[in-house]
Amino acid sequence: MAIMKTEELKKIPSKFNLEQFDVAVFAKDRIREMFRAGKLPTADAMVDEVILRALKEGASDIHFEPTEHELRIRLGYEGVMKKLVSLPRDISENLANVLKTKAGLNAFEKKKSQEGRFTMNYMGIHLDLRISTLPTVSGERIAMRLLTKANHISNIEELGFSESSLEKLKKLLYRPTGLLLITGPASGGKTTTAYAALNKLNVPEKNIFAVEQLIEFKLEFATQVQPSSDKSFSTADALRSILRQSPNVILVGDIRDAETGNLAAEAAFTGTLVISTLLSSDAIGTIPRLLNLGISPYWLASSIVGIAHQQLVRKICDGCKEEYQATSEEIERLGAGTWGQTIYFRGKGCDQCSGTGYRDRTAIHEILSISDQLRDLIYEQAPSVKLKEAAFNSGFEDIRADARNKVNEGITTIAEFVRALG
Ligand SMILES: [Zn+2]
Repeated sequence: MAIMKTEELKKIPSKFNLEQFDVAVFAKDRIREMFRAGKLPTADAMVDEVILRALKEGASDIHFEPTEHELRIRLGYEGVMKKLVSLPRDISENLANVLKTKAGLNAFEKKKSQEGRFTMNYMGIHLDLRISTLPTVSGERIAMRLLTKANHISNIEELGFSESSLEKLKKLLYRPTGLLLITGPASGGKTTTAYAALNKLNVPEKNIFAVEQLIEFKLEFATQVQPSSDKSFSTADALRSILRQSPNVILVGDIRDAETGNLAAEAAFTGTLVISTLLSSDAIGTIPRLLNLGISPYWLASSIVGIAHQQLVRKICDGCKEEYQATSEEIERLGAGTWGQTIYFRGKGCDQCSGTGYRDRTAIHEILSISDQLRDLIYEQAPSVKLKEAAFNSGFEDIRADARNKVNEGITTIAEFVRALG
């Protein structure tokens, strides 16, 4: 979830104004003429400018969407889309070719979806761009995800955990053995948290290993292993080998199959702290997901110590934060526990936040510590309702409670709460 240093990026000047080529501003035929006459910036320059704009505005995604007559380019901010520019449809293919070539994809293949990545450097900020293509009736739609590679591992204290969440998480981390899961949606900052957690455990007396399909950061203090994508050296193979090298802590990038899951659980039961990240929509739902994957209820119940679930929300821009009187409808959407508060915060939009009212992101969390009662229920493969009941009985607070506190404190808005959690 590394956030770009927007201030530094804003200093990079644009080579030209993209908006001048918008079909809404300029007659399509005129642009097309300029394009044919070679008077438009090259496709390369256009792509560079679009990426630069996305960086300056702190966007997380770029979408190139050809429609019948236009190539609409929109920027995504963690799921919220905003139009950047609509260019004439004619140049869509040229831009697609540039992007596909950069990402090492087959530029001639237009009928199948492809996935790739490339890296860039802007003012010392290392950027990782993941691209995926989707053949549509109007041409290839391309989505890009921008990831900055932080040049340092975050401290767990600076990741937006509330005091009580942080305390619960630290308790889980300081256990010498057990399976600790860090869950959340895709690009929800799970890896950042997992690395920060490993970093917290980093002492010379410990043997720390990390097995990941996609290594996002190079760690100084851990042995990193990348399984091969062709199955000749799988995550399970890597885990088995690591277990012969006296590990104290193992980070398993992602548990995707029963074999890996059972090995991780067995390792966690027999003296290793195993941390794994997992896609999931809530903490409790992770348990049935793992059981459905085929992990033995016995191993899971014996090894799991906790689940830290997180999601990212946009923070209100400090440059334009203002108080306002929330409507009764808004307060209702926020749910119980607002203690009669009616004054909330929002950003009215300024230069610093490109008029969005938001700048940077923070995480909202729920931390589930596995009680003995929950352990029994996991072993019995009890339904989610039962798990939920037991969790709340043992003092579990869900992500809505944490998000609500962050709204009350003016870190984020009611609108963002509703967007993220419904
Ligand atoms: Zn602002």
